[in-house]
Amino acid sequence: MTTTPPRSDAVQALDRSLAEDLDRLREEGLFRPLRVLESPQGHDVVIGGRELINLSSNNYLGLNTHPRLIEAAVEGARKWGAGTGAVRTIAGTQTVHEQLETRLAAFKRTEAALCFQSGYTVNVGVLSALLEEGDVVVSDKLNHASIIDGIRLTKADRLLYEHCDLDDAERALAAARAKGYRRILLVTDGVFSMDGDIAPLPGLVERAERYGAAVMVDDAHATGVLGDHGRGTTDHFGLHGRVALNIGTLSKAVGVVGGYVAASQTVRDHLIHKARPFLFSSSHPPAVALSCIAALDVLESEPELIERLWANTRHFKQGLRELGFDIGTSETPITPVMCGEAGTAMRLSDLLMERGVFAQGIGFPTVPRGRARVRTIVTATHTTDELDQALTAFADAGRRLELLRG
Ligand SMILES: *Cc1c(COP(=O)(O)O)cnc(C)c1O
Repeated sequence: MTTTPPRSDAVQALDRSLAEDLDRLREEGLFRPLRVLESPQGHDVVIGGRELINLSSNNYLGLNTHPRLIEAAVEGARKWGAGTGAVRTIAGTQTVHEQLETRLAAFKRTEAALCFQSGYTVNVGVLSALLEEGDVVVSDKLNHASIIDGIRLTKADRLLYEHCDLDDAERALAAARAKGYRRILLVTDGVFSMDGDIAPLPGLVERAERYGAAVMVDDAHATGVLGDHGRGTTDHFGLHGRVALNIGTLSKAVGVVGGYVAASQTVRDHLIHKARPFLFSSSHPPAVALSCIAALDVLESEPELIERLWANTRHFKQGLRELGFDIGTSETPITPVMCGEAGTAMRLSDLLMERGVFAQGIGFPTVPRGRARVRTIVTATHTTDELDQALTAFADAGRRLELLRG
């Protein structure tokens, strides 16, 4: 083992100060070691030498281990190299990056698309590029952290509306309109990542149109899940042409990593000149672009994967409901098992792990205080037998923690 050199007083003082914050997390039951997977991400995973049924990933369709994606990544690295060594705007755009964007635009039925390093950076990049002083953003209170951070980076005013509340959204839009802002942008998650509910997009779009606002939808959890061949919420609700900005991630159902915005050519041109993560952070390895293209091929040619995802979703939700768990208002493969305090959620997660199930407890700040939960996501690759085993583990652990109603 190598020993580290002695640390200066200043270095130690920083550690002491940070350790105080960490102690507070421990007191709240929120201190968590990283779970290290000793296997590929799949319907089962190996952690600490044990095989566990995995309900913790966003790998909805299991595409990360699909032979076509792996082949594309391997071939891509051989042919194009491991990295790009540049940002997109200088020398980091290769044919494969533009091919992926053309495919994404076609998939989302928009004029153009632009890729970013992740879903997080696309939200931060797009919001900070499109909104300036004199503009306003109207945002759902439970939007994803990356949207909140993007909004924080703008000088635009912000108006929050109650979660999925059309009347409150209309109030905010009317207030925005009355003030005569230059740009009004309404932003919502398509599927909310912690509750699994779907944004009331038709009502939001209609109201936004009434007040001269553009709409941005973040379909991180909807792409590959909702709509024709997994095209997302805009397609699910038949709103093509009425949503200005369709955000997505390549890191969840698509099975690789990255983010994109599908929009008009004008939006794409604007972002190429203004979006800071695009300008100042290097582009994806070509293997990433090529495996994402392979993922789109799979989405278009193997719709049975999405059917399987939804069949598993119905089976698992029904099982949890019959056991008497509070599973919130989810309409998608994301199913929260509500626990109240963070300590209970972490305890449930631990009990499940002892029983062979990997399902993460989630507390503040990812969800509001008092709304801690174990969040489950089933995938297309789980077998019915695995889901039934998981339900047995939930029943046993839930009984111990007195989480079952009735
Ligand atoms: C996961 C998620 C992101 C971030 O995507 P990454 O590609 O993991 O950075 C953005 N928005 C929403 C709504 C998400 O759920």
